[in-house]
Amino acid sequence: MTPPPILRTKAALRAAVLGWKRAGESIGVVPTMGALHAGHLSLVESAKAGCDRVIVTIFVNPKQFNNAADLENYPRTELADAEKLAPFAVDAIYVPGPDQIYPEGFATTVSVTGLTEGLCGSHRPGHFDGVTTVCAKLFLQTLADRAYFGEKDFQQLQVVTRMARDLDLLTEVIGCPTVREPDGLALSSRNVLLPPESRAVAPALNRVLRQVAERLSDGESLGPVRFQAEAALREAGFTKLEYIELRAADGLQTLEHPTRPARLLAAAWLGGVRLIDNIAVG
Ligand code: AMP
Repeated sequence: MTPPPILRTKAALRAAVLGWKRAGESIGVVPTMGALHAGHLSLVESAKAGCDRVIVTIFVNPKQFNNAADLENYPRTELADAEKLAPFAVDAIYVPGPDQIYPEGFATTVSVTGLTEGLCGSHRPGHFDGVTTVCAKLFLQTLADRAYFGEKDFQQLQVVTRMARDLDLLTEVIGCPTVREPDGLALSSRNVLLPPESRAVAPALNRVLRQVAERLSDGESLGPVRFQAEAALREAGFTKLEYIELRAADGLQTLEHPTRPARLLAAAWLGGVRLIDNIAVG
């Protein structure tokens, strides 16, 4: 199996992409921060199924980290990532240096209003501006027809979709389902940072979300159910709860009952590791 080429400059990327475009081939991009797991690889599979050419990007984007320690500790495993991608025969792995994304004097921010307020937006100031700025750049650098994102980061998926539409980018954003461990824990690059005792507690986040969703579907309202859910998460060992919220699946408006297709979203800390999850309700 020949390993996929690793491209490190936008010039090398552009040369490859223009060749594919001239041949009339469609291009899919899977933007990641590396430390690849089966969740990322499911996006690669979708991209392979939907596009002639597939580019996986690996860039730990400093602009989307609002916490220096989180950026510092973020796992970086390029060699292992390339090995994991080899069986998928992707056409390129784009691993730009910071200067390829943020050259000297870079002064532009892409910012989406509304959808970025609340949920992770409230707890991670500047995070979504970092995400939309880098995604706009990656969409334009790769000239992708389609970009594949996980529902695991549900607010991000909504925000990036809005950004691409609002800016008339030629990249269609495609959402893909969350991949989970057998115990329900959503796969995340940060899971490797969980010590064994925290890893044992972590599935409680998804379990509690499923319990809340069931009670909401039975007609109970969010307020009291959330109160009990928060107590259950603290009891399980979560150290800090950021939010448990019910939002419209399309538009993220706050809901008390799943009166339309809805999403239940949560963020909580286990020691020094922040976990997020969300599930469909109704
Ligand atoms: P990240 O490397 O964490 O920035 O994630 C890159 C992409 O993979 C994003 O679109 C994420 O939503 C997606 N992703 C991360 N974890 C999962 C998962 N467990 N299932 C599906 N997609 C995921």
